[in-house]
Amino acid sequence: MTEGFEVDAQDALGRVAELAVPRADATVTTPALMPVVNPNRETIDPARLPAFGAEIVITNAYIIHSTDQLRDRALADGVHDLLGVDTVIVTDSGSFQLAEYGDIDVTTEEILAFQDAIGADVGTPVDVPTPPDADRERVEADLATTRDRLETAAAVDTGDMLVNAPVQGGTFPALREAAARHAAGLALDVYPVGAAVPLLNAYRYADVVDVVLAAKRGLGPGVPVHLFGAGHPMMFALAAAMGCDLFDSAAYALYARDDRYLTVRGTEHLEDLRTFPCACPVCTDHDPATVRDLEDADRERLLAEHNLHVSFAELRRVRQAIHHGDLLELVETRARGHPALLEGYRRLLAATDQLEAADPASKATFFYVSPESAARPEVTRHHRRLENYALEGEVLLTEGGAEDDYGTCWSVTPPFGPHPPALNRTYPLTAETPDPVGRAGQEAAARGVARLVEANASASFTLAHDGWPATALEIVPDSVALVDLSTPREAPDR
Ligand SMILES: [Zn+2]
Repeated sequence: MTEGFEVDAQDALGRVAELAVPRADATVTTPALMPVVNPNRETIDPARLPAFGAEIVITNAYIIHSTDQLRDRALADGVHDLLGVDTVIVTDSGSFQLAEYGDIDVTTEEILAFQDAIGADVGTPVDVPTPPDADRERVEADLATTRDRLETAAAVDTGDMLVNAPVQGGTFPALREAAARHAAGLALDVYPVGAAVPLLNAYRYADVVDVVLAAKRGLGPGVPVHLFGAGHPMMFALAAAMGCDLFDSAAYALYARDDRYLTVRGTEHLEDLRTFPCACPVCTDHDPATVRDLEDADRERLLAEHNLHVSFAELRRVRQAIHHGDLLELVETRARGHPALLEGYRRLLAATDQLEAADPASKATFFYVSPESAARPEVTRHHRRLENYALEGEVLLTEGGAEDDYGTCWSVTPPFGPHPPALNRTYPLTAETPDPVGRAGQEAAARGVARLVEANASASFTLAHDGWPATALEIVPDSVALVDLSTPREAPDR
């Protein structure tokens, strides 16, 4: 549990929280986006970043440390003065350079002391990022080194600077979970999930979900988690829903340098844009043709500004969705923008127990917007609760009206399935569903029927369904009598 990390609102595994940063005498609202400031190359003046919504930025202490001029200035005046920004500053340690170039020339003690000396608000030890798909032997060897470095970091006196405890473990969920449990035991402060960049760059979002959920299981719910490298706004909603609190964006500048324009639905190339699909100041004041004709530096700056605007707008949308309780609806919307995001969302939903344990029992109206909605934690929670009911005698489960011939009459609402009349007007059974709800919703409802029937062997059930497909009816136990409400019944005698 990190002291000074207070959760205000929760939805799925996502949360809006306040992270206290003692050295800055500030709190940062999470989910937070940290623009990456490259001390050697300024795309946007860091002093302007708060105007976009940045409360926290990240820079690389290793680059500062290994560049004489930067190091001397940072030691003399502090890193805030060096960058010209008064937000909270997180410093990375050079682990990324270690992964890229294989070797760096500082130890964890040195780099932490340096980060402390230049006034970083959050520092980072030199962990060892293991690339995805590395074999188990290598992952374990790298983890042993990271473990030592974290223990060293925990023992170093860094005053009131918060310290990151990166969680590695490659693409082995069990190793990630164990590494996270070890890190959480060291009483450090912020927990980055490391080496996700290659997975994110390759759009391997399902693997990212596996890795993050494994880390979350080891860390427990009470600590802030940073998904290193998650800078594309199209995946913020998914990343928040899996319980990540901090994201960093180098993307805003790197993409701009390449004439790439970020949107919440993916990336566009400036040359392909006929009009700017965005309401930010850059896009309302310019058109693509004008921007294409600008000098390189001006074009890069304007695109970077747009990229920041669209990123912070999505971040605010994610926060509002968590407050409102419709984060999963937002994730579903974003998942429609890219197949890899849809894979990631499905992988998240498959983690039923982990998701359900965190998800609030009551929130805003449940909107059924896609077949994936049938796998949401509200549905699995309702199914589990069905086992608690004790029913006797003749029971009608119906999508139609009540009938007097039965001792007990329950409604059936896809995707949840059966529920007692007393719950008709309670969350999530007040769900807005499309008509027809479709096969996935009917199959989920059938699973609910099966759970209830199996828990009540002595009762005798009739299911009156509205034209369910065979794939749903196959899930209903054979002992249940079926009535198809969509088939016209015999006309009554006149
Ligand atoms: Zn824009």
